[in-house]
Formats: sequence, structure tokens, C-alpha cells
Amino acid sequence: MAVKLRGTTPETPDARPRLTVLSGPSGVGKSTVVAHMRKEHPEAWLSVSATTRRPRPGEKHGVHYFFVTDEEMDKLIANGELLEWAEFAGNRYGTPRAAVLERLESGEPVLLEIDLQGARQVRESMPEAQLVFLAPPSWGELVRRLTGRGTEPPEVIERRLAAAKIELAAEPEFDVTLVNTSVEDVARELLALVDVV
Ligand code: ADP
Ligand code: 5GP
Repeated sequence: MAVKLRGTTPETPDARPRLTVLSGPSGVGKSTVVAHMRKEHPEAWLSVSATTRRPRPGEKHGVHYFFVTDEEMDKLIANGELLEWAEFAGNRYGTPRAAVLERLESGEPVLLEIDLQGARQVRESMPEAQLVFLAPPSWGELVRRLTGRGTEPPEVIERRLAAAKIELAAEPEFDVTLVNTSVEDVARELLALVDVV
């Protein structure tokens, strides 16, 4: 069983959380799982974050991220346009507030794929949010995936693995843990949690 639930399960469908946060160490497979889920269910809406990181090959502005300069990120933060933001392994990342609030106000489910620091901020500002942790089957497998992805130089991989140790230790703070052994299984479990109808 790859799903671990904490706390009580809501009794009625209406009581289900509309805002779901997916976190987990870099390289665990968050993007892969979300992409798989959205391939089958394009209606599952994912917030597009702003980041100061450079695009990886194949990443598109406005689709995977809004790729912004340091100055643009400064402005987004100063103008209160981000619901949460954090510095992760040398770059800043943040969730544009307006699009998320619009969706929530119309009663539509919202999924954020953000780091631990961001998840903690959301828990503070929106305590009703459901926090989902994606865990690797083992530490060795996480290292293999992060290295095998081949998108970061060794020193960035080291920074991300250092962050991963901290993120893994925070797993008990989350409402649900999914272990990413099978992409298909986890995508199905996540879809059920996000509650897309
Ligand atoms: P994250 O978004 O969490 O940083 P990615 O989705 O980029 O991670 O996945 C990191 C690497 O692990 C990718 O090369 C991806 O293909 C691979 N991967 C993801 N999920 C699995 C899985 N269940 N089994 C094996 N490899 C996986
Ligand atoms: P990557 O550079 O691998 O795309 O992302 C690095 C980390 O930043 C991941 O843990 C990812 O979940 C996180 N991240 C992506 N967008 C956001 C965001 O808007 N806010 C926060 N706090 N973290 C984010």
C-alpha cells in the first residue's frame, strides 16, 4: 500500500479540500507524476510558478514555469503577487496568487507543486489545504533519479540532495504520503486526492 493517510477523512464530498499541495525532494518524480495525471486528465489544473532558474531543455515559458529575472522576482514579491515563495538550491520560486484565488473562489480544485518551505507557508495562510508528500522508495533510488535526470551539474545535485535530507525529515508534517514506486499508481492516487470530477 503506497498511500499513508494521517488524521480524519472528511465525511462528505463537500468537505474535501480544494487546495492540494504536492511536495517532496527534488528528483523524486513530482513533475513526472503530475504530467502523467494531466495527460489522462487535462482538466486537473496545476498552478504555474514563477522562477529565476534557467529553463531546462524542453521547458516552455508559461507552461512549466514563468521564467523571470531577479528584478522581476523582486517586484512580484514586493507587490504581494505571490501566495508563497522560497529560495531553493540557489534560485527563487513562487506561486502567483491571483490565478490560484480565482480558481478557489469558483470552487475548482487547485494543485500546487512546491517545496517544503512553500508548503509550510501555505499551511500557515490556508490551514484547510491538503498537504501531500511524495517520497522515494529509498535514498539510493532518489540519488539515482536525480543524477539520472541529467539536468543539473554535480554541485547543484549536491545542493539538492542536501535539501532532500531536510525535506525527507519533514514528511510527518504532511497529511498524506505517497511513495513513488510506480508513476501510474501514484498518478491515480493523486488524482483521487485532488478530487477532480
Ligand atoms: P521532480 O519533479 O520531483 O524533481 P522528476 O519528475 O523530474 O522529479 O523525476 C526525476 C527523474 O526520475 C526523471 O528522470 C524521471 O523520469 C524519473 N522518475 C520519476 N518517477 C519515477 C518512477 N516511479 N520510477 C523510476 N523513475 C522515475
Ligand atoms: P525544479 O528546479 O526542479 O523545477 O524545482 C525545484 C524545487 O522548487 C522543487 O521542490 C519544486 O517543487 C519547487 N518549486 C517549484 N515551484 C515552486 C513555487 O512556486 N514555490 C515554492 N516554494 N517551490 C517551488
